Amino acid sequence: MNDPHITGIPDLSPQLDRILAELCVLREQQEARSALDILNARLAAIVESSDDAIISKSLQGIIQTWNAGATRIFGYTAAEMIGQPILKLLPDDRKHEEVAILERLCRGERMDHFVTQRVSKDGRIIDVSLTISPIRDASGNVVGASKIARDITQQRRYEADLKAAKDEAERANAAKDQFLAVLSHELRTPMMPVLAGLTLIERGTLSPEELAQEIASMRRHVALEVQLIDDLLDHTRISRGKVQLQREITDVHELLRAVIAMCRPEFAAKDLEIFLHPGAEAGHVWGDAKRLHQVFWNLVKNAIKFTPAGGRIVIRTTNHGSTLIVQVTDTGIGIAPDQVDRIFQPFEQGGRVITRQFGGLGLGLAISKSFVELHDGRLEASSEGRGKGATFTVTLPHAMVQPLPPGPSVRPSGRKPIHARTVLLVEDHPDTRRLLARILQGRGHRVDTAGTVAEAAGLLEKKQYDVLVSDIGLPDGSGVDVMRVARRNGKTWGIAVSGFGMPEDEKQSREAGFSLHIAKPVDPEQLEAAIETIGLVGMPRPVGESA
Ligand code: ADP
Repeated sequence: MNDPHITGIPDLSPQLDRILAELCVLREQQEARSALDILNARLAAIVESSDDAIISKSLQGIIQTWNAGATRIFGYTAAEMIGQPILKLLPDDRKHEEVAILERLCRGERMDHFVTQRVSKDGRIIDVSLTISPIRDASGNVVGASKIARDITQQRRYEADLKAAKDEAERANAAKDQFLAVLSHELRTPMMPVLAGLTLIERGTLSPEELAQEIASMRRHVALEVQLIDDLLDHTRISRGKVQLQREITDVHELLRAVIAMCRPEFAAKDLEIFLHPGAEAGHVWGDAKRLHQVFWNLVKNAIKFTPAGGRIVIRTTNHGSTLIVQVTDTGIGIAPDQVDRIFQPFEQGGRVITRQFGGLGLGLAISKSFVELHDGRLEASSEGRGKGATFTVTLPHAMVQPLPPGPSVRPSGRKPIHARTVLLVEDHPDTRRLLARILQGRGHRVDTAGTVAEAAGLLEKKQYDVLVSDIGLPDGSGVDVMRVARRNGKTWGIAVSGFGMPEDEKQSREAGFSLHIAKPVDPEQLEAAIETIGLVGMPRPVGESA
């Protein structure tokens, strides 16, 4: 039926097949083109929504495309930049980079994460990480480049901050290590002569004079140890703003005489001359006698420490307007000009690095300055330079009033007590209990002892004591519990003894009815003075008793 000779109709099927085949090809091409269009549209959307700048340029460095990310980072719009040379984005000192980049592109090389800087429309320098790849035509020739620029300014800033924090942490760590090394050295040093002295005493070969000498030396070194611990605690209190002054009318000349008396053995040991010129007529201040004593003692101790044997220390007081000025001058090693202010910083030792020639923690002056400033005063140093001596000047507002009778702390040692008292001593450390009881009995007091709250309560039920001296930390409770029983049974003055010397501890024991709070280790002389004078002058009365 399909035979053309039969029908007379030409056979068109080969053409039709060809046309159909062409149509199929066309259709495939059309489908491929629209698939390409879709792909292109997707790519364009990705490029547009990228946070990075995506730019393409010709091999002559002329910008051809510019996405929204590029506008965000560099500030120029696509209209402003397409057709412009890429050099516009390079800071003057980096223009040379473009030549090198183009050379590499022409060789078909790609650059990954090249960290550099570019400049924005408003002149800001931006840290960027660049990835640049060559664009090739169908025959593989490089015809341009695509460039992705990521703004890493913020990241750089974080890195810089992180590095600064790391450096600071390392510096603090090194300072801490250095401080611990110094601290451990300073805490161990005074213990050496104490241990050696104990060994000698145990061997029993010392003459009475040698024994007395050893004991005096041990006492000196233990006092030094206590001073170091006190300095650390004071420093902690000051830096936490927790120092509270116990102000009273204070005779500064009396404090200076007491300091000189305390330091006599050291003046003698170094053959130093000491002069006091109490020129000030108004010699009283409204101040905390204990803290001011500590300030003057620290200045005099430093003068002794930093003045070579045979030198001279002069303490002078004057009035200027409404102030009292105390100057401690020595003929010692002096202070370099660049150190004069720095020595008041905590742990600062006038530029001495790890030389432990003079010992100390470098806290004394920092603490003294803070104490003087708490009294609305000033502490300053001056020196003509190294080897030329130093002068420390304390300026305080003076008080124009009559002095009160002397307080309990000023008391020459060795005399009999004015008031023999009945004392209950509560302490769980057997050696401390035994030794303190012996010392107090030696002064004429009648002393009973207890090691626990229960024992103390038993004694208090039977007898009334003038003074209760109680450790705060006890095995079956606290000294506060003992004080409660004592108050129930009568009018007993309380002295709390505690290893915790912070203001909150003092507050707690006062609230419990103790009149005094003494930090451990207890200086027996201080305890004796407290027992003998408690209730006589200026002490807070036990809670519940009228004045
Ligand atoms: P420390 O005596 O424990 O080092 P201080 O805070 O009392 O600590 O003193 C800090 C530094 O001040 C000392 O290390 C020393 O360099 C310097 N200094 C203090 N007093 C004197 C003085 N009288 N003469 C020379 N230098 C002094």
